[in-house]
Amino acid sequence: MTLEADMALLQRMREEFESRNTTEERRTEIVIKVREMAEAIPHYELRCMNCKHAVVDIPYTHALAAGMIYSRAGKREYRISQCCEFCFDKITEELEDE
Ligand SMILES: [Zn+2]
Repeated sequence: MTLEADMALLQRMREEFESRNTTEERRTEIVIKVREMAEAIPHYELRCMNCKHAVVDIPYTHALAAGMIYSRAGKREYRISQCCEFCFDKITEELEDE
């Protein structure tokens, strides 16, 4: 795919993601698709050191899939821990359960 086609696809997926009528399941699919596109970019540097997935920044209320960062706090956290927000939330949750 060309960069232009990628950008058009990303724009369409963004609109779909933000639509009120889109289901949580479909939103998760979109996050994974965007992540796969990022992973297809040679030398894509933003990776999670825990799940090894490409990190994608998609504002939302919670993490839908590995590699997702959805909040400003998550972005800050990534710079410190190199962990995506999906993994970070999971690790935090496990610590709280102990
Ligand atoms: Zn991760």
